[in-house]
Amino acid sequence: MDHSHAHVCIKDRQGRYLYVNRSLQKALQIATGRESVLGLSDREIFPSPCLESIRRVDEDVFSSGDPQFFEEHFPCADGSERIYLTERLIYRAEAQEPCLVCMSCDVTELKQAGAQLARSEEHFRLLAENSGDVVFLLDLEGYVRWVSPSLTTALGWLPEDWIGRKGTDFILHHGQDSGYQINLQELHSKSETIIARDQILASDGTVHWMETHASPFYNSSGCLEGCVGHFHMVDAMVETETQLRQSEERYRLLAENARDVIWTMEPNGAISYISPSILELRGFTPQEAAAQPLEQIHPPDSLARSQAYFSQLLSDVEAGRRPEAFRSELEYYCKDGSTIWTDVIALPVLDDNGRLVKLLGTSRDITERKRYEQDLSLVNKQLHALATTDELTHIANRRQLESLIQTALSRSDRYGEPVSLVLCDIDFFKAVNDCYGHQTGDQVLIEFSQRIAANLRAGDDFARWGGEEFMILLSHTNAASAQPVAEKLCRMIADSPFAEVGTVTASFGVAEREPGELLKRWIQRVDEALYASKEAGRNTVTLAPAAGDCSQG
Ligand code: GH3
Ligand code: MG
Ligand code: MG
Repeated sequence: MDHSHAHVCIKDRQGRYLYVNRSLQKALQIATGRESVLGLSDREIFPSPCLESIRRVDEDVFSSGDPQFFEEHFPCADGSERIYLTERLIYRAEAQEPCLVCMSCDVTELKQAGAQLARSEEHFRLLAENSGDVVFLLDLEGYVRWVSPSLTTALGWLPEDWIGRKGTDFILHHGQDSGYQINLQELHSKSETIIARDQILASDGTVHWMETHASPFYNSSGCLEGCVGHFHMVDAMVETETQLRQSEERYRLLAENARDVIWTMEPNGAISYISPSILELRGFTPQEAAAQPLEQIHPPDSLARSQAYFSQLLSDVEAGRRPEAFRSELEYYCKDGSTIWTDVIALPVLDDNGRLVKLLGTSRDITERKRYEQDLSLVNKQLHALATTDELTHIANRRQLESLIQTALSRSDRYGEPVSLVLCDIDFFKAVNDCYGHQTGDQVLIEFSQRIAANLRAGDDFARWGGEEFMILLSHTNAASAQPVAEKLCRMIADSPFAEVGTVTASFGVAEREPGELLKRWIQRVDEALYASKEAGRNTVTLAPAAGDCSQG
């Protein structure tokens, strides 16, 4: 018994020690020799918290006479406790008092190791049972010590293919296993779970994506021994993520390189994205532009239009109606204080529940188009002017007046309104040219037209009919009113001499349109009246006789 690792002692009924072995002596830290304990009781040896349970068990064994086998927990000074597996039994020697034989083993470390093992086994069992995942154990250097049979299902390898080899033998590390080493070091130093994504080689040579979760692994004495981990295949996930990333990259590429400005607006009106082309359009960086309130983006008219759309959009969404897209020309403020016109298209993006996710818009610079439109309308105006005015005198030309006469004729047909023509021709104009030259003749034509124009009413139309002939259309005017107009003009021309050439006269014909009269006939009649004035000695006005009179005459 003296050589046993177990603690052994013998006590009498009163609890006095009759024997302690070497091991117990050591444990009790009795330096003075075993004999010094003999005759002492537990009270003099053990700390008080233990005494009660010792005494109770001892008493039980004495009174029942049966041996007892149990665990004893003794508190230590440092707060921990030591655990003993103890057996007590009664020893009866002949003619002697029965005494108690106590044998106990310190199982503290064993119990702790067991608990640790149980915990670690529990952890391991959970991981290993996690279906589909491959569970593995690596040592400190990263060699595979154990791997679950699910490896075969996942990658075709047998566990023995892996055991004893390094993880890097199967991971595609493209020539450098630094990532693997860093992960190992991190596991060892930080003792946290790490998650890594790697490409791994299957036994058939194909390559797969896997996601590994690994944690440090401690042995029963609490020493770091390596890591335990599990991995599963994430090929489908990686594929989806790659596609998503590529598609996002494609759209970003489009947006970043488009000349149009592409933007998104959140339901609260905040701008969440603006493409870089905003810099070219307005002179603001995307960051500057995104931070601007709408009032700093659009001049009042465009601001009102965009706000009206936005509130309509919100109320449509609120009411469950499908909102309309926006399309309009909007003006933007530029950084240099100018403004720029754009064509804006915005589409509301809704989620499955019809809620507004964002507004996706493009703004296209239409400065060029606007300029073309302005240029075009200017050209059109010029063309119209060319087509309708006389080049020399800048009054209407014959074509223009003919169309006005046609309109007046239709109105006269419809409403029975009176309408008259006055035709005038400068007298002896050939002689002006002959005496003063063609250029002076031109000046006389210009001055003549200006004087006539200045003496007409606003609603009267006046044109150069040809050469030195001019026609006046007097709407809402019958012959009786037209004749004095012509006479006044005739006097006005004759009474004031022209620059350079002196007095110039003209002859006039006047004709009111007869009901239903054809244009050609009406013009013929005014021409005849003019001819009559010439015949009558010029510088005079002749009223055309009514058609009936003419046929009679
Ligand atoms: P009458 O009193 O009979 O009308 O005589 P007239 O000389 O005016 O008539 P005639 O028909 O003989 O001559 C018309 C002249 O008008 C001939 C032509 O050279 C001139 N003429 C026509 N158009 C222009 C023009 O644009 N500029 C100039 N300077 N002369 C013109
Ligand atoms: Mg003439
Ligand atoms: Mg003439």
